[in-house]
Amino acid sequence: MSEVARNDLPVVVIGGGPVGLAAAAHLLERGLEPLVLEAGESAGAAVASWGHVRLFSPWRYDVDAAARRLLEPTGWTAPDADALPTGRELVEGYLAPLAATPQIASRLRTGTRVLAVARDGADKTRSLGRERRGYRVRTVDAAGRVADVLARAVVDASGTYDTSNPLGVSGLPAAGESEAAPFVTGPLPDVLGAQRDRFAGRHTLVVGMGHSAANTLLSLVELSETSPGTTITWAIRGGSARRLFGGGTDDELPARGLLGTRLREAVDAGRLRLLTRVSVEQLVPGAESVQVLGTAKDEPLALDVHAIVNATGFRPDLSMLREVRLDLDPVVEAPSALAPLIDPNQHSCGTVPPHGEQVLSHPDDGFYLVGMKSYGRAPTFLLATGYEQVRSVAAALAGDRAAADAVELNLPATGVCSSDLALEADGESAAGSCCGTAPAEPQLVTLGVGVPAGVGFASGIVHGRSGDGED
Ligand SMILES: Cc1cc2nc3c(=O)[nH]c(=O)nc-3n(C[C@H](O)[C@H](O)[C@H](O)COP(=O)(O)OP(=O)(O)OC[C@H]3O[C@@H](n4cnc5c(N)ncnc54)[C@H](O)[C@@H]3O)c2cc1C
Repeated sequence: MSEVARNDLPVVVIGGGPVGLAAAAHLLERGLEPLVLEAGESAGAAVASWGHVRLFSPWRYDVDAAARRLLEPTGWTAPDADALPTGRELVEGYLAPLAATPQIASRLRTGTRVLAVARDGADKTRSLGRERRGYRVRTVDAAGRVADVLARAVVDASGTYDTSNPLGVSGLPAAGESEAAPFVTGPLPDVLGAQRDRFAGRHTLVVGMGHSAANTLLSLVELSETSPGTTITWAIRGGSARRLFGGGTDDELPARGLLGTRLREAVDAGRLRLLTRVSVEQLVPGAESVQVLGTAKDEPLALDVHAIVNATGFRPDLSMLREVRLDLDPVVEAPSALAPLIDPNQHSCGTVPPHGEQVLSHPDDGFYLVGMKSYGRAPTFLLATGYEQVRSVAAALAGDRAAADAVELNLPATGVCSSDLALEADGESAAGSCCGTAPAEPQLVTLGVGVPAGVGFASGIVHGRSGDGED
């Protein structure tokens, strides 16, 4: 493929979530032709699946600037900048109208899952003339038809929500885990709404020790108040849930303290059973329930449950990128230059300098991981960070190096962070606190459950992402 031909091809954006759609908006502003391939039936499919959960970032940080410029001429009414949307409101009030703009609608293919990406005409080992080649993106549609799309560049914004960590130990699935899949849900089932029947009057095992687990456990406790027979077991791999219980009224984040306090009260009152140092080794599915076999505190464990909530965090799907030359950190599975800034082994919180194309680039030119997926296994991603990433990537693809290297992200400086860590073995912090106050540069807010009002993030019981990668 000649260079001219490569540049005539669209930029394929994988995933029509908030960051993928924002990428398309920025590419359009740059005069580039995006093609968004979305696996779900509509844009924002992953967000829709946690639609009942409230974000902790108010609308002002949830809408991308280029997307706003596409929406405003359509008569779109911007939501209240200070309000906290639910996932459903984010889809209905922003992502769906954005996907419906004529500019995006004509460049969005829903029901189209990307199976693999490769350099067109060159497998991973072939170097000669590699940089002149575009990309071949293999897709499958809802009817099972496989088709290849050629692209000048690929922006992978496919998120991580589809790929939970396994329930088994050592990062590996437990024996029988795939056979037991019908009994396993993601971290945030709609326990009090659409999926109520699945949990009411039944025994649920929640595995994990992040805020997703805490929210789901408290929803199950609430369900048990009106649905007799609702039984809850909570399994963590560490020896103590103290970190998630938080500091109670001493907690620097009152809403987070309240969440932890409520959870501790529920455990103390015997409304749910907490098992520590759990290893899930085998799942044996039956007709109505699944047997969970393993150990707890080195003693044999056997549980019979109707549902398992996997809240052990997420990991990126890298299998579809096997033919692309990537430069990924071996720990976090994020671009190497980005990983040290977000590695949860290193940071309980900390500054993440706004970053763009340079930090996100790989040995294969024109390929980028952006959005949630760019953070690999680290759980601290913010939408605003992703919007800055795609602004910079679009500028670079358009050849505007100065704009690509300029920093435009302007998150509120809060000094607020979570003391939670995504990776820890025993419930104790694996890194020292790095919380400061009023940092001079834009600050990563390690996402806790509720942040004091007046610092850009409103308080309240909301979902926090920190710790979702932990167990
Ligand atoms: C419960 C929850 C609450 C959160 N709250 C906040 C918050 O308050 N503030 C904040 O800044 N961030 C928050 N986040 C973090 C993050 O901003 C969101 O996860 C956000 O949705 C990430 O956007 P994304 O576009 O990168 O990925 P996603 O929203 O996950 O979108 C990826 C899209 O790609 C599609 N896809 C996946 N695989 C393929 C494939 N192979 N081919 C084609 N399409 C594919 C999916 O269907 C999906 O539509 C939250 C996350 C969660 C889970």
